[in-house]
Amino acid sequence: MIVVMKRGATPEQIEHMIQRVERLGLRAHPIYGAERTVIAAVGEKRDEFRQSLESGPGVAEVVPILAPYKVASREVCNEPTVVRTGSLTVGNSHIGVMAGPCSVEDEDQMIATARAVKAAGATALRGGAFKPRTSPYSFQGLKEDGLKLLALARAETGLAIVTEVVASEDLPIVSRYADVLQIGARNMQNYRLLEAVGAEGKPVLLKRGPSATLDELLLAAEYVLNAGNPNVMLCERGIRTFEAHTRYTLPLASVPWLHERTHLPVVVDPSHGTGHASLVAPMGAAAIAAGADGLIVEVHPDPESALSDGYQSLDLEQFEQMMILCRRVAEAVGRTIVAP
Ligand code: PEP
Ligand code: MN
Repeated sequence: MIVVMKRGATPEQIEHMIQRVERLGLRAHPIYGAERTVIAAVGEKRDEFRQSLESGPGVAEVVPILAPYKVASREVCNEPTVVRTGSLTVGNSHIGVMAGPCSVEDEDQMIATARAVKAAGATALRGGAFKPRTSPYSFQGLKEDGLKLLALARAETGLAIVTEVVASEDLPIVSRYADVLQIGARNMQNYRLLEAVGAEGKPVLLKRGPSATLDELLLAAEYVLNAGNPNVMLCERGIRTFEAHTRYTLPLASVPWLHERTHLPVVVDPSHGTGHASLVAPMGAAAIAAGADGLIVEVHPDPESALSDGYQSLDLEQFEQMMILCRRVAEAVGRTIVAP
């Protein structure tokens, strides 16, 4: 339920109500709006306490949250969440572009990619050091050595780093280097991992599972939010359908649908979403036209030699061209890709 404070409720009254909610065994998520403050009270048996909270000092009303996801819902907070870390700003009128290789491979590859994507206008560097591969015989990533190369590229360019954490036990080491913790599609419903990144506190890029519904994606985000981390970006990366021409099917209607229901920013991954380098720029631009708050794009200096996902990776020149197109589309829909 939502405890809606009166306009002009004092900080003491707000703090008092937060304490009261917590004493009832519920988790309090205060949202300090320009007009008034609301406190989302989430947990089991929340509706039992409605009447007692309604009589609290400075309280205007207590209303139930109808959506199954609570803190992620627009019912709780209608203002768009903006996620900021270092060079990356994602949300509201700001579009963030995270670009880089599927996997971190070596120093030359990372430094060349980081410099080129920054020059082209990317606002963060992506790269997997811990890779979730379909086959155990495929390249599994450089692990900590890969994280060190990402940190080197950040020192060189100033770009924030987005990298995947595949297991809770790797979280301490990954979060020592990462600016954004990516939860991969295969882990969207790994609830212990979601709670762990929620408690860790770094911004999270949560990818949609290939067979997860959007409600399930929002409930997965709710795990991170409920653990106390408000900085969650949702990522549409394509789903499994009968269509075989593309690696996955990229449903861009997810973007406006999610925007209607959640204040969280929505990022689109046209690389995994299509699985073909030639389809990445048009679908990235289309995602921006549909209102996406960010893109995550696979870029490699020599896609043919990439150790993973080369067929869907843009080379440096193709990425530069894509950014020109995306900037034009962003401008047409009244948004900007914020340069670092
Ligand atoms: C990736 O971004 O490299 C990746 C593995 O993505 P996904 O989890 O969407 O398959
Ligand atoms: Mn990949």
